Amino acid sequence: MPQTGRVLLIDNSRAYAGIVSSAITERLGLAVTVANSLKAAEQAVRQWGDDIMLVLSGLVLPDADEAELVSFFVRNRLPLVVVSGVFDTATRERILARPVIDYVLKDNPSSVDYLVWLVERIRRNRGLTALVIDDSRAYRSQLAGLLHLYGFTVLEAGDAEAGLALALSSPQLHLVITDYELPGIDGVQLVRRLRGTYARDRLAIIGISSSASTRGPISAQFIKGGANDYLNKPFLPEELFCRVALNVESLEHIGTLRTMAATDQLTGLRNRRSFFEAAQRRFDTLNRQAEPFAAAMLDIDHFKRINDGHGHDGGDAVLIELARILTEFTCDQDVVARFGGEEFGLLIADRTEANTMAVFEQLRQTVERANFSFGGVRIPVTISIGVCGTGPGTLHDMLTEADRALYRAKTDGRNRVAAADAASR
Ligand code: GH3
Ligand code: MG
Ligand code: MG
Ligand code: MG
Repeated sequence: MPQTGRVLLIDNSRAYAGIVSSAITERLGLAVTVANSLKAAEQAVRQWGDDIMLVLSGLVLPDADEAELVSFFVRNRLPLVVVSGVFDTATRERILARPVIDYVLKDNPSSVDYLVWLVERIRRNRGLTALVIDDSRAYRSQLAGLLHLYGFTVLEAGDAEAGLALALSSPQLHLVITDYELPGIDGVQLVRRLRGTYARDRLAIIGISSSASTRGPISAQFIKGGANDYLNKPFLPEELFCRVALNVESLEHIGTLRTMAATDQLTGLRNRRSFFEAAQRRFDTLNRQAEPFAAAMLDIDHFKRINDGHGHDGGDAVLIELARILTEFTCDQDVVARFGGEEFGLLIADRTEANTMAVFEQLRQTVERANFSFGGVRIPVTISIGVCGTGPGTLHDMLTEADRALYRAKTDGRNRVAAADAASR
């Protein structure tokens, strides 16, 4: 499914359409096609087809009544949000009984914000995968249909075993919605098993059930088993949408925090803490595979002078450019981090077999020759590197040795690579 998309906005009020359309374009950078009749909307659907991510439509149009309008979009399987000018319980219930996403009232100032949030939610959902597990084919396809409408890529399973197999073979899974009553393993046991692989803050699980059990309320059993949320059957699509949105959004917030906590803000590299997590995993793998590798500590020479001569912002520009060079110089599986200040740590697999030192010498030369500049002024930069190759000891030992070698590179005159003393290990 394409990650870009367009919003089709249908309203007979040019003013309201203008406000919503510019809010979506300005805040989300998405294209909006505005139509003022069903005929114009049909034309837009013909023109844009699958590119249409979401339809926001009013109910009062010159050439169609409510039923015709809703039916057109339902028939074309286009995700529809009805935006209405008047509150009317009967209309609301009629609309929400159809496979549409939501019914939103225009007449309050926050409705535009809500619509923008909703569009963004649908756009993000389009990058996410959901798995529905229910033995009732009718319920399952209704659920899957709604999730598909919300933008998700949807997988389906009719029992827990099939659901588990699908979950474990899907590298990217963001949401599981499971029924409680399933043939064989029940929903709560399924959740417990899923949690063996997927942590609560990486996969959202919503349990569903219509009955109580002798072991107490199923809602509590689900949550205790590791579900993030629970829905009673039968539920309204509106309720499902809110639950799904809420749970997926909280996973995203946690993901953002996790990334922020692991990233050095200035350079975008890993920070020191994140280095040790990733490098330890890599260290274990490389040791298991008996592959040669090296740990290195790298420090910019006389960085204080760079700050003094070009200002703190000039120093920052050097750090950013050096981070870029290091990223370019290393492979995806290598671990590179800014440890703090102008000091960087690396763990790299030995690409040239025996000649680790030559690799780092090449890096040193690359930096020496690179064009660092700030405000149009060239800044000469050199680095010193301490390297420790594979040997007995922990990752921590290797870095300590690399740091000692770095110190030697500095005292020996800087702008050089020094190897850890094999005798000291
Ligand atoms: P040496 O060759 O011995 O490594 O000398 P040096 O001047 O590079 O090392 P020193 O550790 O004495 O100074 C590092 C300086 O880096 C001091 C500090 O003000 C500066 N610094 C630390 N973090 C940042 C940063 O984020 N941005 C900038 N611009 N400077 C920073
Ligand atoms: Mg220093
Ligand atoms: Mg330095
Ligand atoms: Mg330093």
